[in-house]
Amino acid sequence: MARYTGAVCRLCRREGQKLFLKGDRCYSGKCSIDLRKTVPGQHGQGRKKVSDYGLQLRAKQKAKRFYGVLESQFAKYFEMAERKPGMTGENLLRILESRLDNVIYRLGFASSRAQARQLVLHGHYTVNGKKVNIPSYLIKEGDVVAVSEKAKSADFMKALVENNGSKPVPQWLDVNRDSFEAKIVRLPNRDEIDLEVAEHMIVELYSK
Ligand code: SF4
Repeated sequence: MARYTGAVCRLCRREGQKLFLKGDRCYSGKCSIDLRKTVPGQHGQGRKKVSDYGLQLRAKQKAKRFYGVLESQFAKYFEMAERKPGMTGENLLRILESRLDNVIYRLGFASSRAQARQLVLHGHYTVNGKKVNIPSYLIKEGDVVAVSEKAKSADFMKALVENNGSKPVPQWLDVNRDSFEAKIVRLPNRDEIDLEVAEHMIVELYSK
């Protein structure tokens, strides 16, 4: 399946909540979810009864879209989550949170996950001092994520970090904006992940 290139605000309206796919616009009064509450499409207003399968599917789609992950990769993350000790649903969200593009976004080193993905691909960040240009790279506890030396002096990066300076950074990340770097203190607990999804429904869907 190819990456979705349509109007991303439709995805938020489809899921009925903000998925924060458009950077600054998501935090402004122009957010479509604040302006139009209806599900997109001709029959958006009329949809009512949803089956269990429908709810499970929506939960999976919501998580996939939130993190900008394709179907096959999402399924691989689910297999990884199943192999880890603990709750599979929570493990899955923790794996998704530990993607490098998500971490860059959480740190405020990019305005959206999509932008983070693009900037990672361009080689603007390092992990433990080494350039990493793979958005799906999974960070670990103790890793140090930083803006590359070259990008640190670029005006666009300075503006980006400054513009995102007021956004809260989760406690599992210890960021130093002055030095453009952060330490991964630990991986997040479920209550530190702001995605409103019933992850057990995703587990149910894949267990069929
Ligand atoms: Fe979603 Fe952001 Fe569009 Fe709002 S502005 S609908 S949060 S992508």
